[in-house]
Amino acid sequence: MKLTKDDVRQLAATRGWVIVRRCPSCGHERWRPVLRAERDCCLAQCGACDFVFLNPRPPKLDDDSGYDADHADQLIPRLVNTGLLAEDLTPNADRMRQRYAKLIELTELLAPDEPVVDIGCGIGTSTLALRSQGIRAAGLEIDPNFVEAAQERLGVDVQLGDVQQPQPQRAAVATLNSVLEHIDEPVPFLEAIRRNVLHPAGALVVTVPNLASTEFVHHGTKWTIISPKHVSYFTEATLQSTAERAGFTVEHTWAPPATPRPGDPVELWTRIGLGHQGNVTGGIGMVLRNR
Ligand SMILES: [Zn+2]
Repeated sequence: MKLTKDDVRQLAATRGWVIVRRCPSCGHERWRPVLRAERDCCLAQCGACDFVFLNPRPPKLDDDSGYDADHADQLIPRLVNTGLLAEDLTPNADRMRQRYAKLIELTELLAPDEPVVDIGCGIGTSTLALRSQGIRAAGLEIDPNFVEAAQERLGVDVQLGDVQQPQPQRAAVATLNSVLEHIDEPVPFLEAIRRNVLHPAGALVVTVPNLASTEFVHHGTKWTIISPKHVSYFTEATLQSTAERAGFTVEHTWAPPATPRPGDPVELWTRIGLGHQGNVTGGIGMVLRNR
């Protein structure tokens, strides 16, 4: 059944969610709903730049942390269960390297000795992962609950702060690991990082889930990435255009080839204009340069 804007309006009314009227990446007014997924998530796509976004979306929370974040006391046992942290909460460097392989690899290339700011680090798992490989990473996080848990329970250096405020010291390298998909206005957010966090010629390592991935094709509307917490959905092309609108140039893209298996519902790709060109498993990693 074809999804219409009436479905979007109805869903917004039922859930008390907000309708997004302009493309969050390019500002164009023309968009169409493309997919209704689990958890009442409807994805819409810009008619001008192909950017995909959650529409409608939950209203922003007052604390500006973006969405109903998980709490640290729920996250820590999960990190122990997955083996990323030992029972005494020390990081397992091997597991960290596996789990955060691309983030670590790209950051190591850029900053063998430089201090690195890990933006939106939450409880500091990605910061710990970078530090477990010898990278001098420190976290920057807007949510005081996460900052407290990171400092006191995990002993990781995380500062309370917001990219909208100029930072006391500009960084040559910053990381943005699994953050941008939570941001409802990605262009001004990336611009703020460029102006307030990075050196004039600094680099930003970004990782996001990839809508043009075989994971999306395998799981379809049940893909766990499609959730009310994730308001922005990127492909390699739309991550690049969004970054360029924010004044970055793309220096490097990580995009391993992936081939759908027979029987995979590739029509999902067709519906969002990807044809069979989807080319990345799981995530995208990109190095952006402040120009
Ligand atoms: Zn657009």
